[in-house]
Amino acid sequence: MHLHVVMAFAILIWWPRERPIDPIVTSAAGVWLVVLGQLAAVWLLSTVATSRALRVLRDQPRGLEDAQHRYHRTTLMLRWIVLATFAVDLTLTGWPDMVASFRPVSIVPAMAEIIIVLPFLVGSVLVLVAAYPVDRLLRLHTGIAATPCATETAATGGLRSYLDFNVRHQLLVVVVPMTMILIAYDIARDLEDRMPASMQVPWLPDFGLGISAAAVFVVAPLFLKRIWTTHSLPGGILRDELDRMCGKIGLRCRDILVWRSGQMMVNAAVMGLFPRVRFVMLSDGLLESMDDKQIEAVFGHEAGHIRHRHIQFFLLFALASMLIAAGVMELLYRWSLAAAGPRFLNEAVIQSAGFVAIVALWGVGFGFISRRFERQADLFGARCVSAVGDAGCSVPCGVHAGAGERAAPSYALCSTGASIFAAALDRVALLNGIPVEEPSWRHSSIASRIAFLHSLAADPGGVERFERSIRRIKKTLIAVCVVGLGISAYYVQPYVWTELARMTSSASGG
Ligand SMILES: [Zn+2]
Ligand SMILES: [Zn+2]
Repeated sequence: MHLHVVMAFAILIWWPRERPIDPIVTSAAGVWLVVLGQLAAVWLLSTVATSRALRVLRDQPRGLEDAQHRYHRTTLMLRWIVLATFAVDLTLTGWPDMVASFRPVSIVPAMAEIIIVLPFLVGSVLVLVAAYPVDRLLRLHTGIAATPCATETAATGGLRSYLDFNVRHQLLVVVVPMTMILIAYDIARDLEDRMPASMQVPWLPDFGLGISAAAVFVVAPLFLKRIWTTHSLPGGILRDELDRMCGKIGLRCRDILVWRSGQMMVNAAVMGLFPRVRFVMLSDGLLESMDDKQIEAVFGHEAGHIRHRHIQFFLLFALASMLIAAGVMELLYRWSLAAAGPRFLNEAVIQSAGFVAIVALWGVGFGFISRRFERQADLFGARCVSAVGDAGCSVPCGVHAGAGERAAPSYALCSTGASIFAAALDRVALLNGIPVEEPSWRHSSIASRIAFLHSLAADPGGVERFERSIRRIKKTLIAVCVVGLGISAYYVQPYVWTELARMTSSASGG
């Protein structure tokens, strides 16, 4: 899931309604000039970045790692630049109004929004097209060392299959569910407009937005498995072993899928809140290039996310961040009333403060929690491939061979399990061309994850302390949500009663 695409849709939905500032460029010619000029600039920047990365690759035969770093950094930066230009289109130009005022567009639900977001989508595709030569070359270089035939086909698959894969995985995966939500939202808004004034419920469109977003989120795996081309993992030794593992660790899912990427991706993922719509996906590149034990380790990591309810706690985090931002806005509002008479701070300032609070919470809090959840999933994966009994354990291990007279505590981690998992992580990094030291906001660097697992295998007390810290994070999330919901219920309830009274009186009155 690519954060910048999600952010583009988030500002698409929220920004134009708030309109904190008036657009500067409003004439049709000016708007076109800005929109097309930005796309041209994005293309120019992308091609410059590509030729620089290609030069590094050509000039220094040993410069592979450097080129990888540069490539990762610049594509990331270019994506955020595309997002920033889109924010400019929305806030400083009359682009959204120009699209919305075009009659035929307003007839089809969500059509206007899709056209408004088009400059962002086109910009994202331009970045992809420009990056293709570097991506291809890097894949060829890193791939040859690992799996010659597999990556050879991927690297020579051509621009078309490269674009097909990346557009599906970066853009469509967000665009399709968002379009469904927007259609529901537009229909709710339309219904609201048609109702007689006395029957109108101002919060109906927002309520529709919330309900449809929740519904789309729950069923999303059913259509995501089609957007990403997948098929059921066929029967055989590996399938039997994974099914057996599901039974042992109590993992319920609808199917285990092969995630087809033309060998372009060595990855695994899990999706779905409920067992009936839950899938574990293993990419073709992963199945092709790793041994069964390593695949089981990666599968165990994904199972760990489910067994430890990480998706549910991420939803609680989202709720907690909204409650905190709402609290900040409410406090500012009250303070502005008390401090300097009526409306010392205007609406736009308070709204922006709420927005800044949300961004800060996600920027710091989400990364912090996500990195710890990843480590907990790593630990779970390592346990899944741990030795059963002393005979299966080959290295000196605090649980098995070499444990001495005293029995190890139940939470101790087997060194063999840690080693198999670490080897799997190392291989994933190598095959994906990710430098092991490269920091990651959501996952931490591969090197630090490997070091952490080895340290846990050497120190059972560390396992206990780590599990305790995760429990503390989860308890804090629950507490913030309970307290926040309590406070908001207290503030909202008088409004709910008057609203209900108004609706019943208008219904009985005619
Ligand atoms: Zn994970
Ligand atoms: Zn062991």
